[in-house]
Amino acid sequence: MKTCQVSIVVPCFNEDEVIEVFHRALISALEPTRRTFEICYVDDGSSDRTRLRIGSLATADQRVRYTSFSRNFGKEAAMLAGLRMSRGDAVVLMDADLQHPPELLPRMLELRQRGYDQVVARRDRAGEGALRTFLSALYYRVMGRCMDVQVVDGEGDFRLLSRTAVDAVLALPETNRFSKGIFSWIGFDTVGFTYRNMQRAAGDSKWGGRRLLNYGIDGLISFNSHPLRLAIHIGLALALAALGYAVWTIVGVVLHGVVVPGYTTLLTAVVALGGIQLATLGVIGEYVGRIYSESKRRPHYLVRETDESPHVRPVDIP
Ligand code: UDP
Ligand code: MG
Repeated sequence: MKTCQVSIVVPCFNEDEVIEVFHRALISALEPTRRTFEICYVDDGSSDRTRLRIGSLATADQRVRYTSFSRNFGKEAAMLAGLRMSRGDAVVLMDADLQHPPELLPRMLELRQRGYDQVVARRDRAGEGALRTFLSALYYRVMGRCMDVQVVDGEGDFRLLSRTAVDAVLALPETNRFSKGIFSWIGFDTVGFTYRNMQRAAGDSKWGGRRLLNYGIDGLISFNSHPLRLAIHIGLALALAALGYAVWTIVGVVLHGVVVPGYTTLLTAVVALGGIQLATLGVIGEYVGRIYSESKRRPHYLVRETDESPHVRPVDIP
């Protein structure tokens, strides 16, 4: 097996519009570093011509390799496939939309040379809507409290991992993967720096509000059982409040005789309790669902073709 110094892993989902610009930028950032490298593209079941494009990049250049999924399995699965594919001593995970600037690669490699196992490029939130910035900040605060591992605002998947760190990530067998948590969980010497946030070069972000919300919930739940603990705390607090209210009512009855009971209080209590019970059931359900999907032991993705076994030799793309 041929090894190299650096592997660049790029998950791509419908990146037809940017992939070639990205590829050129990547090559011109990598070549001056005078390191041997390979670029591993993972086509996450794109419905546009992404697969053909990376196919022809691989035909044109020995250093380019690719895997293509049978359908869209999500970025986590694509990153996993890329990490498994990579053979470099250092592996860099990057997005295909140029939001992770290739110009930062020399700096990351230099930090790796100083002995760090993880080099994280953290983006600031320049140019982002106030609401999104606020919600993200809030989310990371909540996450910080609820999780055993530390997840930092702006730290995404743009990072360099040493071979040791990659092996550690690959040794974790879970089906529900939450990379932000996994990277933090494995530890090792980590260093970070901040870069200016960039807008996507072309195409659309695949993360709408709903997908982000689901991702957020995934992150909270897939890493530990704190939400269950929270449910117990809320339950206990409510039970205490109810006890206090009962004592207060009994004292009232004893002192002032029977008063007409307010049905508003009753209704509020019933509805509030119902809501909390449903939410708690939902939390438990999420965990049960996860146990179910973990126990099925399905693969994280299915491969349709790779550079070693292309279905059709991609030749010219209009
Ligand atoms: N991506 C992927 N599978 C998906 C969604 C996204 O491989 O299901 C890739 C996408 O092609 C890009 C990266 O993940 O290279 C980040 O996606 P995007 O730019 O949509 O996310 P954002 O930058 O808005 O967080
Ligand atoms: Mg992006």
